[in-house]
Amino acid sequence: MGNCVFCDIVGGRIPSIRVHEDEDFIALMDINPLTPGHLLLIPRQHFTSTLDMPEPLLAKALPLAKRLAEAAILGVGASAFNIIINNGVESGQAVPHWHLHIVPRKSHQELPLKVGAPADLTKLPFTAAAIRENL
Ligand code: 5GP
Ligand code: ZN
Repeated sequence: MGNCVFCDIVGGRIPSIRVHEDEDFIALMDINPLTPGHLLLIPRQHFTSTLDMPEPLLAKALPLAKRLAEAAILGVGASAFNIIINNGVESGQAVPHWHLHIVPRKSHQELPLKVGAPADLTKLPFTAAAIRENL
């Protein structure tokens, strides 16, 4: 789909730091992480909402998210995590290409109320490597 930042990432036209790829999905580091290790799981094909996603693809997404969450909490030393899917502009969905957020959490760590701060690009590849090692 034209003008979609995640389609551009899938197509390699925009760089990304990826921790996992398979025939259906890519998992990458969020560029404005809410917490260290914040991952996005995106399908290679463009769908906007969970309501548009084919059920076989949805059925693959949660087991993969579980595996990524395990690796992310080990990789960054977190103790918990949030899985978030925004569906539609009014829900806060900024990128209209389906994505599942995995947000590692440590005790007493509050989520910022707005979008996270831009990632430190000198550190992000090392955080990604720490997550990959646990996949
Ligand atoms: P939404 O609000 O749509 O659920 O979340 C979109 C997410 O995509 C945000 O957390 C934002 O930081 C992330 N994001 C937006 N553009 C890019 C990009 O070009 N690269 C990466 N890695 N993440 C992005
Ligand atoms: Zn797209």
